[in-house]
Amino acid sequence: MTDPDVFLSFRNVKKTYDRRTLVVRDFTLDVRRGEFVTLLGPSGSGKTTVLMMLAGFEHVSSGDIIIDGASVTRTAPYERNIGMVFQNYALFPHMTVAENLAYPLRVRKMPRNEINDRVAQYLRLVELEDFGNRHPGQLSGGQRQRVALARALIFEPALVLMDEPLSALDKKLREQMQFEITRLHRKLGCTMVYVTHDQAEALTMSDRIAVFNHGVVQQYAPPDELYEQPANAFVAGFIGENNLIKGTGAAGSGTSASVTLHDGTVLTAAQGDFREPSGPCLLSVRPEKLRIAVDGSAPESGANVLRAGFVTQHYVGDFIRYYFELADGTRIIVKTMNDDRAPALTEGQSTLLYWSPEHCFAFHPQSHPAQGDTP
Ligand code: ADP
Ligand code: MG
Repeated sequence: MTDPDVFLSFRNVKKTYDRRTLVVRDFTLDVRRGEFVTLLGPSGSGKTTVLMMLAGFEHVSSGDIIIDGASVTRTAPYERNIGMVFQNYALFPHMTVAENLAYPLRVRKMPRNEINDRVAQYLRLVELEDFGNRHPGQLSGGQRQRVALARALIFEPALVLMDEPLSALDKKLREQMQFEITRLHRKLGCTMVYVTHDQAEALTMSDRIAVFNHGVVQQYAPPDELYEQPANAFVAGFIGENNLIKGTGAAGSGTSASVTLHDGTVLTAAQGDFREPSGPCLLSVRPEKLRIAVDGSAPESGANVLRAGFVTQHYVGDFIRYYFELADGTRIIVKTMNDDRAPALTEGQSTLLYWSPEHCFAFHPQSHPAQGDTP
């Protein structure tokens, strides 16, 4: 049960601000030494609250947080020796860049000549060697964020926390900084807990992602596993694009389920979290897994086949996004590479869509946020 590589553990952590509602309901998570773990969830799901408890700025209502084998639940923030970067940089505006970087070293009573060397080294590391004498107000947003990054890392903490550090930057700069952060993380070998509501950012940067909703971890897995094998309808809907089709499920033998749609069409799915003998369920399938059968071309045998009416298509350049509708109005999206397989369809055309059963999942409707989620 205990993994010797585990560096950080949350054990049944709960948090209430008002003694009535739990914003973190029951948070249990292990992070390995040197791992880059992201907490991904919608706004208000409790991500910042978890980081604040880890940093020591908020009390844990119950449960325990363990860093490197020792409980820190009663340890003051400065004794936890954690590096932190927040959304709004929080640099000292009256200090130069070099003074900002020196600050965490001065409070740790590092000798002055060592401080100067270390500051020069970290200015180089974030490619700001010519900016040491500037004040934060004289820097661009991206440069300020690199200073904030260097200041969080300069005292070489074993654990670094980042709370949506890139959300104020434009797309291009954000992608560049994603690359910088993962590069520095690998180079320095610290353990990273990163928070974002941006699923693309989480997928590109993380070793593992904890998908978080209403203070509960929905799934904790590497990026490809989250995408290919979502645990429930919430994860399937939150990570990437997804078609969700309502049906009535019958848990089949072993790992497959058969799902009957309103019009009687029967489809086969891998069992997600659907375990009932029968009942309402959601069938989930990614747009790029669907194929369009045109001109009487037959779907391969064993495939799921669905009849749908073509609505419209959007040209995206490298691929084409087709919109279909089922008889009950359910919208189905199909993504096809823009090559000679991309069919030309006319509005209202009745079309067969097909896909392999292994690419779709039967889920409980309850785990989808649109269906409500009560404690
Ligand atoms: P996230 O970072 O995922 O957006 P937060 O942790 O900031 O979520 O917030 C989770 C919930 O806790 C929200 O409903 C928020 O309003 C509430 N909350 C956050 N901080 C406080 C606070 N200091 N006092 C009272 N409620 C708070
Ligand atoms: Mg937050």
